[in-house]
Amino acid sequence: MSVRDSLISVLPIAPGEILVVDDEESARRAVIQHMMTLGMRVTQADSGVRALEMAHEKATTLDCIMLDLAMPGTDSWDVLARLRANPETASIPVMLLTFGNPTETEMLKMVEHGATDHLAKPFSSLLLCAKVRAVCERSRTQRELKNKLQFALEHAAHDALTGLFNRRYFERRLKEEVAHAKRHKGPFSVVMLDLDYFKLVNDTYGHEDGDCVLRHLAELIQAQLREDDVPCRYGGEEFVLLLRGTTGMAARIVANRLRVTLATKPLRLGPKSELRHITFSAGVAAADERNAYAADNVVSRADAALYRAKRAGRNRVELESE
Ligand code: GH3
Ligand code: MG
Ligand code: MG
Repeated sequence: MSVRDSLISVLPIAPGEILVVDDEESARRAVIQHMMTLGMRVTQADSGVRALEMAHEKATTLDCIMLDLAMPGTDSWDVLARLRANPETASIPVMLLTFGNPTETEMLKMVEHGATDHLAKPFSSLLLCAKVRAVCERSRTQRELKNKLQFALEHAAHDALTGLFNRRYFERRLKEEVAHAKRHKGPFSVVMLDLDYFKLVNDTYGHEDGDCVLRHLAELIQAQLREDDVPCRYGGEEFVLLLRGTTGMAARIVANRLRVTLATKPLRLGPKSELRHITFSAGVAAADERNAYAADNVVSRADAALYRAKRAGRNRVELESE
């Protein structure tokens, strides 16, 4: 074993997935052999067209594409430009394979086209392995960061127990909706919804069964609302629905449909799986034709209507008075 090979053999395994694009089978084989030594998963393509297909297919897992610059019938610069232009493949690192050291002009072109790095044939095995390892490590760190960011963004907007949007998200969307309603004179409604005698449910069956009731209502809401609507858990056993493009009258119908669905489907609760009817009361307020699209204080107006629904005996929906 040469000194180089023995050095490579002691490089720690670097899990990663790479795509080797080269028209020459022997060149692909040489790269693949080293990559396997590093413990990488390797796929190969012998043309630009095939490379683009595979990059698209494996966009979420590829850590590096090694792209030969000299392939008959393929304009590798164009392949690189297409990879960069497609949002799904734009962030996959691309290492260009050149024959001999690139000129200054070529190197500038690489920078302009967004190549991550380059490697000159014939390869130094050690350099090949070291460069690919570094690129893959960076790619993995970036992917992990991206996933964490995605997770954080999703959780910043959602309630952990029910999966509905949370109050903070509601406040943000409400502001946008109020601005939109004022500018375009379009309707929207807010439904405040509060479970009836929920404390009793908790006291009778325990907090965990109480949580099941909250999740059950959230599922009903999700199933019945339109994609445009914004269903949120406002806090505790209170929910709020932001219904876009919906008048107060229409929102009352939506809320009543939900109320009837919940009230007529008893849940099994407690150790004896007792059937228990659950109900909610709701208050509806809107910015619509009836009030000349007045969007101010829409939440406190819905709250006042909810209060009336509770006072009037619960399990009912009240629309704010004109
Ligand atoms: P009302 O009909 O007047 O609305 O009566 P209520 O019992 O529903 O209202 P109250 O405000 O007295 O009680 C609300 C209860 O909701 C008390 C609280 O422990 C419970 N609660 C709030 N958040 C949660 C939660 O996340 N999980 C569970 N299981 N219970 C919760
Ligand atoms: Mg309450
Ligand atoms: Mg309640």
